[in-house]
Amino acid sequence: MSFSVGIVGLPNAGKSTLFNALLRRQIADTANYPFCTIEPNKGIVEVPDGRLPVLAEIVKTNQIVPAAVEFVDIAGLVKGASEGEGLGNKFLANIREVAIIVHVVRFFTDDNVLHVNQRVSPKDDVEIIHAELILADLQTLEKQKEPRVSASKEEKWRWQAIEKLKTQLNQGKLARQVELTIDEQATVRDLFLLTAKPELFVANLDEAQFGEREDVLKNLPFQPILGLSAKLEEQLASFSEEEKLEYLAGFGENQAGLDRLISQAYDQLGLMSFLTAGEKEVRAWTVEKGSTALTAAGVIHTDFQKGFVKAATVSFEDFVQYRGWEGAREVGKVRLEGRDYRMRDGDIVEFKINLAS
Ligand code: GDP
Repeated sequence: MSFSVGIVGLPNAGKSTLFNALLRRQIADTANYPFCTIEPNKGIVEVPDGRLPVLAEIVKTNQIVPAAVEFVDIAGLVKGASEGEGLGNKFLANIREVAIIVHVVRFFTDDNVLHVNQRVSPKDDVEIIHAELILADLQTLEKQKEPRVSASKEEKWRWQAIEKLKTQLNQGKLARQVELTIDEQATVRDLFLLTAKPELFVANLDEAQFGEREDVLKNLPFQPILGLSAKLEEQLASFSEEEKLEYLAGFGENQAGLDRLISQAYDQLGLMSFLTAGEKEVRAWTVEKGSTALTAAGVIHTDFQKGFVKAATVSFEDFVQYRGWEGAREVGKVRLEGRDYRMRDGDIVEFKINLAS
């Protein structure tokens, strides 16, 4: 399971501004997040979850551990990057690692901020970046060798997939838009094609555009897209929570753009949170959507998986309504689920384990 989000875009699109705003939410104590590495272009950022403080109040703890994702600022993606322009191929190594791409597209106009092509044109900018990613993928595909006649059926599927990809990427398609059979898909996963990764577009708007964001973002050929102003987000980071909400309300928003971005990336990564709430701490744990109770137990500790007996489970709403475990139990709202139970986002769980045998 990867939690890594890579930020790409042309120079001066606002990547660093956005990344710096995200870093203001960086989690200082990273001991709880073994997947993270400390590097200047990486930041481990809290996934906003309004349920956690509510639970903390009910179980009377001050200790809240949120879920987190890693953001990586990927510099050096310019026209010609796949051929060594800019930071050259260095960005490729960075981008390969990430599970989802956040593509920052410049919409804002500002004569003081140079545009690499002297004009603001979101559609062209997106095409430039996509062309570079496609070229990088084609290089990967060209390196693959045709299997021998005696090859296994998997190797043949793989070659078929590679041929399809080569043809269609050459026509300007992204790998994720190329139709492959399920068998074929599995055989090319190890190529880690850049254009096979899910992509979330961020329109970096100026204030006037932000006020009209629905119109500005309507009917764009690249989707899903989320509108925010990186500069504004950076400024908002120093506002108090109240000031922030008041400011956002002026635009008809109740959430900062960064919150929307982090939540949407988490969702698009196919991740969800289940929760634990005890005297010691309230905590959000990350699992892939559709995970079973047994998998969830293993996220907390391998012993929980080995000794799994049942998962005492209650919904967030019931937990709040009946003010905690005891209250929810009294009215029969705590279910005892088995190992195959499919976890739901926001389930509050207490694993029953037995390691005696
Ligand atoms: P990067 O090259 O993509 O990392 O772009 P930066 O984040 O460094 O931004 C380039 C310049 O654009 C900086 O001077 C920013 O202050 C400015 N900038 C970023 N976002 C906005 C915005 O929303 N509005 C305006 N007017 N300027 C912005």
